[in-house]
Amino acid sequence: VHREEPPHFVLVPLLAPGHMIPMVDMARLLAAHGAVVSVAITPVNAARIGDVIRRCADSGLPVHFIELPFPCREVGLPEGCENLDLLPSRSLFPNFHRAARTLLEPLEQQLRRSRPAPSCVVSDSAFPWTRELARSFGVPWLLFHGFCCFALLCQHNLHEHKTHLHVASDSDPFVLPCLGQRIEVTRAQLPGAFSSTLKIQDIREQIRNGELTADGFVVNTFAELEPAFVHDLQEATGKKVWTVGPLSLCNKKALDVAERGDKASIDNARCLKWLDSMDPGSVVYASFGSIARLAPSQLKEIGLGLEASGHPFIWVIKTRDEKASREVERWLEEEGFEERNRTKGLLIRGWAPQLLILSHPAVGGFLTHCGWNSTLEGVCAGVPMVSWPLFGEQFLNEKLIGQILGVAVGVGVYTPIVWTEEEKAEVLVRRDEVARAVASLMHGGEEAAERRRRARELGEKARRAVVEGGSSHTNVALLIRSVSVSSPVVADGTLP
Ligand code: UDP
Repeated sequence: VHREEPPHFVLVPLLAPGHMIPMVDMARLLAAHGAVVSVAITPVNAARIGDVIRRCADSGLPVHFIELPFPCREVGLPEGCENLDLLPSRSLFPNFHRAARTLLEPLEQQLRRSRPAPSCVVSDSAFPWTRELARSFGVPWLLFHGFCCFALLCQHNLHEHKTHLHVASDSDPFVLPCLGQRIEVTRAQLPGAFSSTLKIQDIREQIRNGELTADGFVVNTFAELEPAFVHDLQEATGKKVWTVGPLSLCNKKALDVAERGDKASIDNARCLKWLDSMDPGSVVYASFGSIARLAPSQLKEIGLGLEASGHPFIWVIKTRDEKASREVERWLEEEGFEERNRTKGLLIRGWAPQLLILSHPAVGGFLTHCGWNSTLEGVCAGVPMVSWPLFGEQFLNEKLIGQILGVAVGVGVYTPIVWTEEEKAEVLVRRDEVARAVASLMHGGEEAAERRRRARELGEKARRAVVEGGSSHTNVALLIRSVSVSSPVVADGTLP
């Protein structure tokens, strides 16, 4: 009797919270659809998401975490720097990528022993070396993009048309090519690959080359959010685009929602109790993702701006280092900030249970740095957003949710975050601007009501996409079917 083995997906996430979190969500999703899944991980990261790994094991889902040594010392990284959010300086990016590249061999060795044999490699686009892994097993090599199709399309078009090279300076606005609508940006607002001061050229080139040679893209978005851009991305790249998101919605149980990525630095019950005590739709949630660290001077302006908006708020504070943390704490103390905002402000220092917060009906607005996960989580929650992009493709995400989808108000920031002490940490946005943006999001008359309505509608569409019959649900099933061992895979690994 011929018994069909389930397909085996090998997932290789970029080691950064914003990339690992959706990949682990995807692992559970693929497993729930009947696939066997292996996720490549390193010891420090495995310890950080220990609860998630244990829960996967307890639930009996066939998701296996393959722990691989990450050679920090050999490449000049401080011990334990196995995640981008642990790097003391951005100048260590090349070292980090060198260390990651060494995962290939031990990963391949472990996979040689695994049954069923791998049927597909889905790798973060930042790790183009995984192509060798896929080719050595003769299986398809798909790239996972933690971006939206709009941002991917913009980047693809810029690579093709080089429009950004025809402007005089980083601050001159120009129109993004081939979008069918007029969207302006500056070079400074584009991801690093388009910067005029590119320091990691070779890594960028490998990533771009990977994008050109991959067998398809898996994207954490859903078709109904950006149908034209999904279509145009497929047309422009000639690649199959599997939209499988929002991946955050695969977390159905309260426990999963509470803990994704790191362990929250606030007691979940306390957080829920606080939210329960607030009116529906009244709270603003302010958070800037996992990587960015704003300067103490900027954090103070945010705190005072949230306070001045007059709305209840949850404010997630992450500081660069001990010194910055002490400065912020001293200021909070001297100002009597927490005491003064006792009844309407909740401060979370460190890791927030973001999904838990966003899923609560008391939350009515999200001040976000427009990281794609956060943006999509805001969309799922059906809340309008204040956009404050900081780096990477976040300025493009801001265009999508503001100008195109009409569910966000810009805080009014036009240049990326300043990363290092030496570059002088300036205040980019003052308290009155924060307060103005939050107030116009939360009251703002008819315009704000319309924005809220659109946000609610997108939230509903997001939920429909992931249930039986929905576009993403169907795509996951099709993706699995297309790589299952019963279907022939041609010699170079491309999908039939
Ligand atoms: N996140 C969280 N708590 C935090 C900070 C971040 O749960 O305190 C999660 C957030 O829900 C999202 C991810 O971490 O899933 C951050 O990814 P995003 O793309 O928004 O931003 P990045 O961290 O990559 O800048």
